[in-house]
Amino acid sequence: MNHQEALRRSAVEKYLLNEMPQPERDEFEEHFFGCQECAADLRATAAFLDGAKKELPTLAPPQACAERAQETLVRFSLAAGLCGARVLLVVARRGLSECRGPAAVRRRAGAA
Ligand SMILES: [Zn+2]
Repeated sequence: MNHQEALRRSAVEKYLLNEMPQPERDEFEEHFFGCQECAADLRATAAFLDGAKKELPTLAPPQACAERAQETLVRFSLAAGLCGARVLLVVARRGLSECRGPAAVRRRAGAA
């Protein structure tokens, strides 16, 4: 394997992620022992992956995210439902007080 081929195949990433079949792995190892650029890229990418592995456990797993999103949706729906119910209650009370109140009776009598 030459350097251009290593770049084209994303050999550094595949090597570090164990996504490379053994014959290709052997080929790449032979190459990077003699290629300073690939060796440096290998060290930098390995350091990046180590850092990412250390940070990833602190992130919430996808299942927890999905549960949190669903919980938020339920809370939002409840809040929207309560809000709608309050608006209906206010409208209904106004309607009732206008229809039944003594002032409404006087207003109607005055209007007629
Ligand atoms: Zn190289």
